[in-house]
Amino acid sequence: MSNETVQAVRGMNDILPEEAGLWLWFEDVVRDWLHGYGYRNIRMPLVEPTALFKRAIGEVTDIVEKEMYSFEDALNGDHLTLRPEGTASCVRAVLQHNLLYNAPQRLYYSGPMFRHERPQKGRYRQFHQVGVEALGFAGPDMDAEQILMCARLWKKLGLSDVALQLNTLGDADARHRHRAKLIDYLEKHEDVLDAEAKRRLHSNPLRILDSKNPAMQELIDAAPRLMDELDEDALAHFSELQEILKRHGISYEINPRLVRGLDYYNRTVFEWVTTRLGAQGTVCAGGRYDGLVSQIGGKPAPAMGFAMGIERLLVLLQEEGRKPTGQDVDVYVVHQGELAGKLASQVAEQLRDGELRVILHCGGGSFKSQMKRADASGACVSVVIGDDEAQADEVGIKPMRGGDQMRVGLSNMLSKINEFIERE
Ligand code: ATP
Ligand code: MG
Repeated sequence: MSNETVQAVRGMNDILPEEAGLWLWFEDVVRDWLHGYGYRNIRMPLVEPTALFKRAIGEVTDIVEKEMYSFEDALNGDHLTLRPEGTASCVRAVLQHNLLYNAPQRLYYSGPMFRHERPQKGRYRQFHQVGVEALGFAGPDMDAEQILMCARLWKKLGLSDVALQLNTLGDADARHRHRAKLIDYLEKHEDVLDAEAKRRLHSNPLRILDSKNPAMQELIDAAPRLMDELDEDALAHFSELQEILKRHGISYEINPRLVRGLDYYNRTVFEWVTTRLGAQGTVCAGGRYDGLVSQIGGKPAPAMGFAMGIERLLVLLQEEGRKPTGQDVDVYVVHQGELAGKLASQVAEQLRDGELRVILHCGGGSFKSQMKRADASGACVSVVIGDDEAQADEVGIKPMRGGDQMRVGLSNMLSKINEFIERE
């Protein structure tokens, strides 16, 4: 075996303590926000049968064609995949456990997703999403709820430059009509299509409209529009959604080219986009997926959901100057001598009884070197115990942000320390 240190898999990141503080803060805000809308937590496995994603996401999509971590279970030959997204798993879980039996469901989850993409800023092979799904809701009131939710979250996070793009994909009939016209149109201009577009011409022509190839833009701009095929119900749904958004002062742009990379969407689709992350500008995306529940074997039920990319949002937060919080300690206990050591561990437990966050110095060393650790810990107060203090049942208290060290008896210790603790 070589002595080289083992490195993490490319595109899969460690989140170190320095950075994790921001994650913790973000997760707290997000949890409160979700509970504020009555969404309940659900947790699914990271690994699912490969067939689930093929069926749910669609065979001719970027994810299923080239981004999935699929493998055969070496022990029993099962075909498995590390989840590339959460919606399929969530719907599977809901069906498997019959949650939709007599009540609609507002659900959320968060955690790692896996896609084999070319790693770059804002694009990783293991990344994290918060996913929100509402199952059993057919009306535009739910579409509006989820978009309003997002707007509220950006406000809570202090993000100002994420903009809403909106589109409707209509229902199956309209999509079939549009698809036929689109294929017809694209076939007539086959000479302009690039290799990928040609390959998708008959399998997933809608995705061609999503292409970023400059050579095809003119062709795409003049393509038959899905909007022209929409039936009355879908149009009414879309305009009611827009009415609610306007009533709440949510601004948006209708982007007819927004089709989303997954097959299961219908009617409303949306993305929240920032210009500050280059090509990785979409921080949150979702839409209605009324066909998915039956597509993976359930009794038909309408549904609507979205997912946001945590890494991308955190980059934005860092740019806004948001600093990590939540992992500070209040007190660092330093001690020297046998008697002092015994008292120190007792004192540390006692302070924790008083709801303080306490580091007890471990590993010995001079007072001077221990005080350096206390300083670096960010604690507001250090408690200093030598055998001298221990014999008198007293401790030294040193405010770390300035001020003289003082000696107090054990019974006054907690209240004295609390005077120096900076509460957030
Ligand atoms: P993109 O167009 O950027 O590839 P997508 O349409 O594939 O995004 P979704 O499947 O809609 O993305 O996932 C929802 C969100 O998850 C995205 O808007 C983005 O914020 C985030 N996301 C998707 N893929 C990655 C990735 N590889 N690394 C980091 N975040 C990602
Ligand atoms: Mg993608």
